[in-house]
Amino acid sequence: TVAHVQAVEAARALNAYVLETPERAIEMAKASDARRASGQAGALEGAPLGIKDLFCTEGVRSTACSKILGDFTPTYESTVTANLWRDGAVMLGKLNMDEFAMGSSNETSAFGPVVNPWRTQGGNAQLTPGGSSGGSASAVAAELCLGATATDTGGSIRQPAAFTGTVGIKPTYGRCSRWGVVAFASSLDQAGPIARTVEDAAILLKSMAGHDPKDSTSLPVETPDFPAFCGKSVKGLRVGIPKEYRVEGMPAEIEALWQQGIAWLKDAGCEIVEVSLPHTKYALPAYYIVAPAEASSNLARYDGMRYGLRVEGGNLTETYEKTRAEGFGAEVKRRILIGTYVLSAGYYDAYYLKAQKVRRRIADDFDQAFEKVDALLTPTAPSAAFALGEKSDDPVAMYLNDIFTVTVNLAGLPGMSIPAGLDANGLPLGLQLIGKALDEGTLFSLGSAIE
Ligand code: GLN
Repeated sequence: TVAHVQAVEAARALNAYVLETPERAIEMAKASDARRASGQAGALEGAPLGIKDLFCTEGVRSTACSKILGDFTPTYESTVTANLWRDGAVMLGKLNMDEFAMGSSNETSAFGPVVNPWRTQGGNAQLTPGGSSGGSASAVAAELCLGATATDTGGSIRQPAAFTGTVGIKPTYGRCSRWGVVAFASSLDQAGPIARTVEDAAILLKSMAGHDPKDSTSLPVETPDFPAFCGKSVKGLRVGIPKEYRVEGMPAEIEALWQQGIAWLKDAGCEIVEVSLPHTKYALPAYYIVAPAEASSNLARYDGMRYGLRVEGGNLTETYEKTRAEGFGAEVKRRILIGTYVLSAGYYDAYYLKAQKVRRRIADDFDQAFEKVDALLTPTAPSAAFALGEKSDDPVAMYLNDIFTVTVNLAGLPGMSIPAGLDANGLPLGLQLIGKALDEGTLFSLGSAIE
């Protein structure tokens, strides 16, 4: 813990942490030592972790990296983080992220962008660690924590993991409790870990997961022993290659990476099968209707009355308006505008209802594919990490980066990103494994075969 606390201080230029909690970390580590000495060590005893600022932590400022939450300090602990502390983990601090988890580059944060510890060979440009869990990914990659919590609504665990050479898994919807996690799009949001190895991710997820009566969408199922799946033989498993993911304009090196992944899995004894997910091309537009719709509703609570920032106006309505005008950043406002538009009476059928139907089709596509295969293999993102500022003025270009990740959230399935090599510039690239609902175990086995 002490070494990590020092590393965090030394690497402030990465802007991965928005709040450091060194005193608390040392206190937790001491309690951990005491439990260890008395032979009561938990599964994560003494493991120093970073916590994405979307998780409410009792007595510790939690802002979702939005100005509107000010220095909101919850009086309660999210279930996921409570589970980690129960098993002995230590909190190093709160990690930077895109505001309310909306973004793919960590540039929408009220605390400024996070820097990727990776650089192109011989280059000096600062790169994005991806988003929205950019702080989590950057901190894990730079060894500023042993592992981190993250959340994934449309790729926010997997894409940053791919951009930083780390492992990230978004579990099945309902595997981890959403209680105490600031809501973005409730039917898509899931918590999961970012870690240095597949096994670390398995150990962390085992601790984070579990049924929680405080979240009505939490699944009443036992948590499997995920670490036991790591290193397990994958011989005879059938892995599908969805042909629709071979999108136009995909760089040759991403295609080459994909072929490499296929070769590795073949060597490990898997059977490779081409499958079709015909509605894939509608996933991105459907996601960018459903997610903003739910966000506009979830974010209605930030009115200057309950939490954080309040900018006084002449009357109540004016106070609402001024608070929201000042408190929300541009991307969040864009999502609220889109969301309220697609939910409005005149457009509901044309956009929101249509998007929900597309979502059903996408889930059906996966169901059909999973009659033939045990898991799917795809690239995680259509590119390696890009430069900070490169896409920040072009929301559509930014949204296109989520092309391979949003489908999984729409269908509620587990997805994992594994570091799979470097591109020509020496930047990490990730491969994505997609599993059947509640079958994260197979992903851990396949992930350790690729790792
Ligand atoms: N990049 C996507 C978005 O901006 C996904 C974000 C996420 O998974 N939280 O909505």
